Amino acid sequence: MTFDAILIGAGQAAPPLAHRLVKSGMKVAFVERKLFGGTCVNTGCIPTKAWVASAHAAYVSRRAWEFGIEVDGPVAADMLRVKARKDAIVKASSDGVEHGLRDLEGCTVFDGTACFEGPHQMRVGDVTLEAPRIFLNVGGRAVVPPIPGLNETKFLTNSSILQLDKLPEHLLILGGSYVALEFAQIFRRLGTDVTILQRGERLLGREDEDVAVAVAGILAKEGIEILSGIDPTEVKQHWRGVEVVWPEGSATGSHLLVATGRRPNTDDLQLEKAGITVTKDGYIPVNDVLEAAPGIWALGDCNGHGAFTHTSYNDFEIVAANLLDRENRKLTDRITAYNIYIDPPLGRCGLTEDQVRRTGKPALKGFRPMTKVTRARLKGETEGFLKVLVDAESNLILGASLLGTGCDEVIHCLLDVMYAQKPYTLLTHAMHIHPTVSELIPTVLEDLQPL
Ligand SMILES: Cc1cc2nc3c(=O)[nH]c(=O)nc-3n(C[C@H](O)[C@H](O)[C@H](O)COP(=O)(O)OP(=O)(O)OC[C@H]3O[C@@H](n4cnc5c(N)ncnc54)[C@H](O)[C@@H]3O)c2cc1C
Repeated sequence: MTFDAILIGAGQAAPPLAHRLVKSGMKVAFVERKLFGGTCVNTGCIPTKAWVASAHAAYVSRRAWEFGIEVDGPVAADMLRVKARKDAIVKASSDGVEHGLRDLEGCTVFDGTACFEGPHQMRVGDVTLEAPRIFLNVGGRAVVPPIPGLNETKFLTNSSILQLDKLPEHLLILGGSYVALEFAQIFRRLGTDVTILQRGERLLGREDEDVAVAVAGILAKEGIEILSGIDPTEVKQHWRGVEVVWPEGSATGSHLLVATGRRPNTDDLQLEKAGITVTKDGYIPVNDVLEAAPGIWALGDCNGHGAFTHTSYNDFEIVAANLLDRENRKLTDRITAYNIYIDPPLGRCGLTEDQVRRTGKPALKGFRPMTKVTRARLKGETEGFLKVLVDAESNLILGASLLGTGCDEVIHCLLDVMYAQKPYTLLTHAMHIHPTVSELIPTVLEDLQPL
């Protein structure tokens, strides 16, 4: 069967692209093997943030007395209802993506796993599809480290943990990055004992040390046990559930979550038949407009240039702009930006302080603890700090780490000034609204110190 374009994987980039291609008059084939909406909708952002909301409700309810509110009886999570709420949100989103594609005139949906038969030929089951344009949006999955015994245990990943409808008694978590920390805090707040076993000396190895230390403090204060420098040599079944062993000790728990990273779903695509060689980690190399080979594009997590929903969606925007809108948009125009949805959240954009120091260029730093942010005090959420980095010569904002209540939103006021390539003084001259966390961003920038 011949089409103008074939799209593989209903992640965050291909569905909106299918709509744009069809609108431009193309006949497209869309292949999805399992879950419409991919990781974000089914096993990533959407379900986890639904659970972050449930966990936050439990946390606030337990602290209600601090605000003068009586809660009648103990606060307990009804995991069946916590899961049902999350499932309903996920289903609505996934159904929306699926119906959007199946009902799209000019788009034919094929259910199954696609692989290359030639540079412009793909097979799905018995069907062969051909098109001059192929868009890969195949995403990724959890890495399972080669620890002896692990595969013989009933370990959980980000996908299977979301199917739990009973609270684990004691959750062990392998990993110290954002997926590990978000689940750690969710389950702790819902009522589970949680132990994080992380290989590095500190959590969040890519963040600045002050951020990592503050985050560890927030989690520890809530009763999460954090063990660092753990390099497991064995995992085995235990009468309590599971045991993780390392040279200096061991830990037992009722459940084990493996959150040690992600790898791209490129193994079964037969990319060699399209003349594409993946990187050693399995990513599809792409150029600045996301082309992997003539007429083949790779978007989203599988190209290794981002591991977020917004980076995948931005890949769609870049491809659509170049192909359909005669615009010249590039991957390298993108500024790093992401949130970590622990509570309070970490909002990040641009460079970390470590990265700025490594450039060796003169820089300035603005800093303010959340204890000095009125809105945070009003909400009784004074953990964290605001940190902004500025180029001392150009006055351009280089990056920010905002750890605190509301910072998942506040980060955008810095990000947008970075995109506008305007000096930080644009913000010091702006009037922000009181009482918000954002109103302190100009104040932080008025008191910059040499780094
Ligand atoms: C626990 C967790 C929490 C997260 N939270 C956030 C968050 O809060 N914010 C954020 O921005 N990001 C978050 N992410 C990351 C985010 O989910 C992904 O970056 C995002 O989904 C982008 O993925 P994608 O578009 O590359 O593809 P995916 O969403 O992974 O979709 C790929 C699709 O391709 C299909 N597929 C794969 N191979 C084939 C094939 N050969 N044939 C047919 N179909 C195929 C798959 O079935 C899947 O549906 C989270 C991830 C995890 C794991």
